[in-house]
Amino acid sequence: MKMPKFKVIYDKPTCIGAASCVAVAPKFWELVGDKAELVGATFNEATKKFELIVETPEDIQLNQDAEAVCPVAAIKVEKISD
Ligand code: SF4
Repeated sequence: MKMPKFKVIYDKPTCIGAASCVAVAPKFWELVGDKAELVGATFNEATKKFELIVETPEDIQLNQDAEAVCPVAAIKVEKISD
């Protein structure tokens, strides 16, 4: 069965270091200094945002949880394929 792919998009300048994402999804989110880092993400020069493709239901859910708790909406999880 083919899994849908999702892209996690992180706008680092928006982050206020609240660490809510780190609390719910430490597998993906770490606090470094006063900003979160999305582990394994690549920087998209065009959009100036960090991006990471996630495919397993667990990894998608973890990042959707992070998206839900971020107080400044710095994290977006978008479906990119079925
Ligand atoms: S929850 Fe949002 S504001 Fe808080 S550390 Fe994570 S990305 Fe930054």
